[in-house]
Amino acid sequence: MNAYVADFSARSSVSRASRVEDFIRKNHFDRPTLVLDVDRVEEQYHALKSGLGRARVHYAVKANPQREIIERLVKLGSGFDAASRAEVELCLSLGAAPEDISFGNTVKKVRDIEFAFNAGVTLFAADAEEELEKIAEHAPGAEVYIRLIVDASEADWPLSRKFGCARDKAIGLLDMARSLGLSPVGFSFHVGSQTKRATMWTTTLDQIAAVWHAARAAGHDLTLLNIGGGFPAYYGEEIEGPTPYARHVMELIAERFGDVPHVMAEPGRGLVAEAGMITAEVLLVSRKSDDDLHRWVYLDIGKFSGLAETMDEAIRYQFITDRDHEDFGPCILAGPSCDSADVLYEKRPVELPLGLRSGDRFLIRNCGAYTSTYASVGFNGFPPLDVAVI
Ligand SMILES: *Cc1c(COP(=O)(O)O)cnc(C)c1O
Repeated sequence: MNAYVADFSARSSVSRASRVEDFIRKNHFDRPTLVLDVDRVEEQYHALKSGLGRARVHYAVKANPQREIIERLVKLGSGFDAASRAEVELCLSLGAAPEDISFGNTVKKVRDIEFAFNAGVTLFAADAEEELEKIAEHAPGAEVYIRLIVDASEADWPLSRKFGCARDKAIGLLDMARSLGLSPVGFSFHVGSQTKRATMWTTTLDQIAAVWHAARAAGHDLTLLNIGGGFPAYYGEEIEGPTPYARHVMELIAERFGDVPHVMAEPGRGLVAEAGMITAEVLLVSRKSDDDLHRWVYLDIGKFSGLAETMDEAIRYQFITDRDHEDFGPCILAGPSCDSADVLYEKRPVELPLGLRSGDRFLIRNCGAYTSTYASVGFNGFPPLDVAVI
């Protein structure tokens, strides 16, 4: 063990030692556990904030609703982007002020709208006529922003067409909101999650700016631009640091929108991913036939117990094992459940130590976002991801 520790520190530029990793090495875990370092969330908040300047941060709660994260962000003065009654309630119960919560889901239950409005939430998203009618009836007079579709996202995890309206509908919806007695304040969009470089925002911002200026010319005094999330986390490919990235995005915005009174950013992944590490275990290493080129490595965590973002191999996590000083070879990586969809990486195999075997500890880096909440309650009897906060 001592020899290993020495060897590990020699490799520290590859596997940056961290408080979460330290904690994992000093403790025993019976089941896959996400260890979260809330101080790291705070550092990331300050780093993003210093690049975002006057833009307000509204943390996208769905990325990780762990109460310690919300509490810390409340303390730091962050706002929140909530998608459901439960998320609104969570933020309120942990001290967020209702006016700091944006109800950003464009597909809301009427009862949830009513609940949020009665609790004091006054800012709602919409992308369709019927949604505006629901808001006008159950949150009369509320402020609304219209979510626009983004074409041609360059993100690793694009959010496609599920949310937002086409740009040629935008002004009609603002008109309708006004005639329903709502206060239409602006637009929102999401450039796509894990947009690795700030320059990738350019096309999207051009599209949104065109609608923004057309709406203003049509008499809408817009005051709010909600730029959504998309801020990247480090998964092994080079990304800009949070401060220069955010500063660059804000420069692109200033060039196109001028002095927008309120800019709102909703980082999820970019705020919490790097604060978390999962500790898991190798269950089996095998070959399907004697001349199989790739080993199969089965873990005690998979697509249904926290690693849903490996879908289509979109997000490629980085791993640390206790054998990282040995020679490496390609593997197909799979989860434990008896569903054949539970294969994490196969199209692009992952390189893992040749000596890897059953019982080995298997660490997954930078997975504080979209893991604990993506775990099923226990598909196939495998427990959902446990969470420990340090
Ligand atoms: C999920 C989501 C976010 C967060 O996106 P990230 O890419 O994780 O930063 C922000 N805004 C809205 C409306 C979302 O649905």
